[in-house]
Amino acid sequence: MGLSTTRAVVLQTYRYSDTSKILRLMTVEFGPCSALARGALRPKSRYGGLLEPFVEGEVTLYTKDGRDLHTLSDFELIREWRGLGSALDLFTVASALCELVMRLAPEHRDDELYGALTTGLAQLHAQAEAGRVTGGLEHVWALVNTLGFRPELDQCVACGRAVGSERARFDYAAGGLQCEHCAPSRDGLDAQDIRDLRALVDGQALTGGSGRQARWLADFIRYHLSEGAVLKSLPFLRELQ
Ligand SMILES: [Zn+2]
Repeated sequence: MGLSTTRAVVLQTYRYSDTSKILRLMTVEFGPCSALARGALRPKSRYGGLLEPFVEGEVTLYTKDGRDLHTLSDFELIREWRGLGSALDLFTVASALCELVMRLAPEHRDDELYGALTTGLAQLHAQAEAGRVTGGLEHVWALVNTLGFRPELDQCVACGRAVGSERARFDYAAGGLQCEHCAPSRDGLDAQDIRDLRALVDGQALTGGSGRQARWLADFIRYHLSEGAVLKSLPFLRELQ
């Protein structure tokens, strides 16, 4: 029991009462956690409307052993990326980042995951400021990789044969590509698709339409990471053009 201070990103907030909010946070020290922000909804709240998604701050939490819900004692702004709200596609990608962390982060400190989250949000925000308002899927793949779910794109997940540049099928549940011998299919990925997918998973930005790439990513998350559960952001991610 006591006070702890740590960096944290606000992932999501819920109204708790007429005047209070519950925050879902990704913290450096403790990994994901929830905090009750008393008075946050009062017009003259000392938090000044800062307790919103896409904001990073130094949080001071009053923690009690054995309790999952901590109490927020202080919040000092470090940086914020709320400008993402003006670029709908990038906002969708950023929401998927936050939701993945909220649902799948391990219940302990994870510096690499915290870094993937904040780097992704910062770069999406920079992209929005620069007027490049589509794409950004490589940041979600980076987070997926950090969570330990990197897809297998070099060897067939069924037979182990090297997948070159011929056609292949993305087997979402199995977590990678199936070669054309194991999954003969006309509507699979062609050579260009496979190059695009490998580039995104390796963290490279693509130019041009991202509709197909967004569907691969959303379906991979749905069938391989979330075990069929639908994350709220996935339908929006899947509809990106
Ligand atoms: Zn095969």
